Amino acid sequence: MHLDVQDDPAIIAEVERQLARRTRDIRLKGEIKRLFRARVWSQTAKIIRAWMIWVAFLDVLTLALNMLMLPKAIALSMLLPGAIIPPVVMIVVLLWRKPQAHWLQGASLIAGMFLILLSVALVGVSAGGEFYERHLNIMLFVAITAIIIFGIPLAWTMSIAASALGLYLVFQLQNPGIEFGSAAAATLFFTSGIIATIAARRIMTILAQKTFLFELRDRHRVAELAEANDRLQLLASTDPLTGIANRRWMTELLDLLWADGGTCPGGAAMLMCDIDDFKKLNDHLGHAEGDRCLVEVARIIKENVRRDHDLVARYGGEEFLVLLPGVDNEEAISVAERIRQSVEAAAFPNPASRVSRRVTLSIGVAVQRADEVISPEQLQRQADAALYLAKQTGRNRVLLHRPEPSGRNHIQLTR
Ligand code: GH3
Ligand code: MG
Ligand code: MG
Repeated sequence: MHLDVQDDPAIIAEVERQLARRTRDIRLKGEIKRLFRARVWSQTAKIIRAWMIWVAFLDVLTLALNMLMLPKAIALSMLLPGAIIPPVVMIVVLLWRKPQAHWLQGASLIAGMFLILLSVALVGVSAGGEFYERHLNIMLFVAITAIIIFGIPLAWTMSIAASALGLYLVFQLQNPGIEFGSAAAATLFFTSGIIATIAARRIMTILAQKTFLFELRDRHRVAELAEANDRLQLLASTDPLTGIANRRWMTELLDLLWADGGTCPGGAAMLMCDIDDFKKLNDHLGHAEGDRCLVEVARIIKENVRRDHDLVARYGGEEFLVLLPGVDNEEAISVAERIRQSVEAAAFPNPASRVSRRVTLSIGVAVQRADEVISPEQLQRQADAALYLAKQTGRNRVLLHRPEPSGRNHIQLTR
């Protein structure tokens, strides 16, 4: 069953309050009571249905055996009262197949039990003689088994017990074979037995409720732990300055993506982006301005890639690594160009830069084709090599690393 209670502070506080009590003082109330009922319903219903069917089966079996073994007149007198049980059982079993309104469930069970007990008693009463008292005792026995195994609200249990003792008293008072005093004494004796049975049942119910409270508490703690874990995970994988993923996260993801046969299925492009003359920006405008620039560049890079496909991470001080899965040379260069141009167009000042008076970006691109086997480290080295050349050849540019058929690598300048 699904319980979404771990987030409800009122319920959790109530769970703690109940668990702080002595076990015998546990009393479920309100929402928790409703949840407990919902939790145990199907099991309780199954037990009640099975018990009912078993009683009906025994009833029919004994009636049949009586027809064979008892004098005809006696056996026939038992038939009519004994015939009450099967239809009653059928109705109760039908009503207990699916959850109904609480009152209907209770009323059907209590009325059904009354009729079953009445039937058992009447079988003895109408047969008379030795059967009279014997069937009243059987009736009490039937009631006691129900009280013990039905995990139902105390009020229902008490109603069943009251039905049994009431029927016992009424029929014993009319028993021609015994005196009033004897009937009263026997009723008192059985009453004390049934009270003890109800007390035992009550303890079983409270223990089940306590187990349920522990379960609610566990769910809450597990949910809390999972949440704390998620927060930690996020903290451990996020760069605090820019809010994008960090190098650790990217490395783990690359390993995951490449797990399948040492290659990224469907190919991938890697862009190594590095801000040009960033040290000079820090030196001239201050570290705080440098930080602001990093945040903006990270934002621009994210804006220029596919939200649900591509991965962006801050890889080093002013270096960003972008992974574009399933992308070929042409697309990779066009994304890289778009990023480079957007950064340039944003016109953040970098007055001392050797490139221009604005912040610019150099990007090295490396692509793994779908049919190629290249490790993420190799791909990254290729992107780094392309970036290095982009810096060498003037910065503010995108360079693609292109492996030659001969096996030697060369870099293609795209701009
Ligand atoms: P190049 O064009 O060759 O990349 O030159 P560069 O100055 O950008 O490269 P270099 O590696 O010499 O300098 C990188 C600078 O980035 C040095 C460091 O102070 C700065 N940096 C690294 N992390 C941070 C940071 O978190 N905030 C700020 N403001 N600066 C940082
Ligand atoms: Mg650098
Ligand atoms: Mg740099």
